[in-house]
Amino acid sequence: MKLVFASNNAHKLSEVRAMMPAGVEVLSLHEIGFEAEIEETGKTLEENSLIKAKAVWDFINDGMSAAKPLNDGLMVNGVFADDTGLEIDALNGEPGVYTARWAGSPAANRQKAIRELEGKEDRGCRFRTVITLIRGGKVQQVEGIVRGRIAEQEFGEGGFGYDPVFIPEGYDKTFGELPAELKNHISHRARAIQELVRVLNDGLME
Ligand code: IMP
Repeated sequence: MKLVFASNNAHKLSEVRAMMPAGVEVLSLHEIGFEAEIEETGKTLEENSLIKAKAVWDFINDGMSAAKPLNDGLMVNGVFADDTGLEIDALNGEPGVYTARWAGSPAANRQKAIRELEGKEDRGCRFRTVITLIRGGKVQQVEGIVRGRIAEQEFGEGGFGYDPVFIPEGYDKTFGELPAELKNHISHRARAIQELVRVLNDGLME
């Protein structure tokens, strides 16, 4: 089965490829010739995830309307897109849908998380990923959540984004320090992908 993942983020692609069962090939946007920027104008993770999946679905089904038509003969079984938010309890769920744009860059975002929680007892938060799958025009959404807390300073250089300041529940190290194999097992994205695989398997039985 060939699925297009509506992302060119090398970190996300390698995580998602490592999580998918054998037999599912994950193609990036570059690999299908999709080079346009997708504007994330939604007000929720659900909306943004749908916007991304739909833009790529439309491109595949109407290549002429996008920047570049698909290579002849490229057959794909579906498209999926993810959108992730960091939801901090003491900030009423912020930055949420604005997680990527909170302070302007990944380093500034991490520092802002640390600053906003300075002196606060409650450092609880969660990462939430919403994945939208489009297959045969049918839209399905799944979600994955991992709870944790914001570290008092950055630790580790692994992963990407907020990983050096996110300590998953049950651990005392950040995703930046923990092995990638562990993150790929327990993360928000891992849990959403597990749900996606369940939906794909159900689809095979229908
Ligand atoms: P998006 O899903 O690509 O829109 O990501 C939203 C924001 O969440 C970006 O700032 C990412 O860096 C961050 N982010 C997404 N996934 C992860 C993750 O697995 N670890 C740390 N940060 C993440």
